Amino acid sequence: MIQVKTFYLNELRECCYVLYDSTKECVIVDPGLQNANEQQRLVRFIEENSLKPVKLLCTHGHFDHIMGNAFVAAKWGIPTYIHKEDIGQLERAPQYCQMFGFSIEQPPVDNIVELNDGDKVTFGESELKVLHTPGHTRGGVCFYSAPDKFIVTGDSLFQGSIGRTDLPGGDYDALMESLLTKVCKVDVDSKVYPGHGPETTIAHELNTNPFLRYE
Ligand SMILES: [Zn+2]
Repeated sequence: MIQVKTFYLNELRECCYVLYDSTKECVIVDPGLQNANEQQRLVRFIEENSLKPVKLLCTHGHFDHIMGNAFVAAKWGIPTYIHKEDIGQLERAPQYCQMFGFSIEQPPVDNIVELNDGDKVTFGESELKVLHTPGHTRGGVCFYSAPDKFIVTGDSLFQGSIGRTDLPGGDYDALMESLLTKVCKVDVDSKVYPGHGPETTIAHELNTNPFLRYE
């Protein structure tokens, strides 16, 4: 049984998730840590629960989701898992951030494991399925647990909304196809852990999300 801890981080209130099971191994998803205070919140949670981080998982390469990659990779010596189409965003992140008035440490671009559609990411006795869901970015992915009925959607699906597609690599038609043919095809009772905002469920979004209404 996977436990999920949520952190709301940085000025964009980005959602970082720590997923762990009874073995105490954990993965850290989208550590958008902006400062030492946020870094300490994450470290304290990991230490107080005696967790052992084994993988850093990226739903996509946008700067608000990867600001803490350098810290996490160095602190625990763990590899970064990301789809290859978004690796370039890791490389360009520091320059890109400057345009928004942020300064971030270069996210590691070595010790990378490329994610592909259908991959299984394991930790402890648990397994997550990788769904490649381009549209918000070209290399966007979701992480799905069928047994524990949840999906981490990054910025593809939010409560009542969907990810923006006006940034570089964004593609509205691709995002709709990802949502309708992959994300919304998982168990409808699945909880949704999005990249921003409150958690929801697939069923709730199918019933109420205006972007998911079939004509
Ligand atoms: Zn994003």
